Amino acid sequence: IRKIGVFTSGGDSPGMNAAIRSVVRTCAYLKVECIGIYRGYQGMIEGDFKPMGARSVNNIINKGGTILKSARCQEFRTKEGRQKAYDNLIAAGIDAFVVIGGDGSFTGAMIFNQEFDFPVIGIPGTIDNDIFGTTFTLGFDTALNTVVEAIDKIRDTASSHNRLFFVEVMGRDVGHIALNAGVGAGAEEILIPEENLGRERLLESLKRSKESGKSSSIVIVAEGDKTGKNIFELKDYVEDNFPDYDVRVSVLGHMQRGGSPSCYDRVLASRMGVKAVESLLEGKTNLMVGIQDNEIILTPINKAIKGHTKIDKELIRVSDIMSI
Ligand code: ATP
Repeated sequence: IRKIGVFTSGGDSPGMNAAIRSVVRTCAYLKVECIGIYRGYQGMIEGDFKPMGARSVNNIINKGGTILKSARCQEFRTKEGRQKAYDNLIAAGIDAFVVIGGDGSFTGAMIFNQEFDFPVIGIPGTIDNDIFGTTFTLGFDTALNTVVEAIDKIRDTASSHNRLFFVEVMGRDVGHIALNAGVGAGAEEILIPEENLGRERLLESLKRSKESGKSSSIVIVAEGDKTGKNIFELKDYVEDNFPDYDVRVSVLGHMQRGGSPSCYDRVLASRMGVKAVESLLEGKTNLMVGIQDNEIILTPINKAIKGHTKIDKELIRVSDIMSI
């Protein structure tokens, strides 16, 4: 392998730039060429490539987003689209790639590998932490810190006005952000898609905490939670049944994806990038780099995509105890 392509794909996450930097610098260190591919699979199909030397990634370790841009690309889902991408890679002399993204991006890479026997390695970049084979995905830790900071601010205003706040955080299918940030921010209740205990129980719990002397409360709701039809319907339900509280809703939205990566994410990205390039040079392919027990490990991409991540039951228990 003489030339490695690197790109970011799907939803962006903090730490992607640190991973790009790591891949580029590891290539320079090991004396293989590195080519940046812009806008993920879209740029691969359009041949949007740029050689990247060690100095091309100066001053990006601290930046959120991705300097290579990201995109969703329908054309790559077709055989013709992938053929165009392959022809462009070959024409540019690229003989392996590192994809930084989520499970959709990995599915594309796996299909591409099967069709063209092209070496691929994945780095999990998503704030959702919903990828099997790694305890942490890039951006998760930063997103948690962002959410906790936001909730701390909401808490100030909630306690000044004796309000109950419903705060919606990202997580359409998984509640990792909600649960971890909820415990970290001291939320009263945490509602996640993995666990639907019903709205009556929520009401009971809020009543109990009011009776025990709490004058304000924060309830974290993951996007995909099904306790109510949506967070606004849930607010109406609680207001109708519990007039003591002035209830407000705050939807944190895309701010959770942005910002300067935490130290943890920068270190993780640096370690993962080194492992990705070294693995390709060792002839490995179709694998995802992950971290488990603080060791960088490899998992077959198909397992990473298909395996389900489990919510931490012990953390749910801790959260229940804390909201006494
Ligand atoms: P996130 O979930 O964090 O947003 P992701 O990588 O899962 O990230 P997707 O939009 O699902 O994001 O996938 C990114 C891109 O990967 C798609 O736009 C498409 O180009 C490619 N891709 C996804 N699934 C497939 C597939 N089945 N076949 C070919 N390409 C795919």
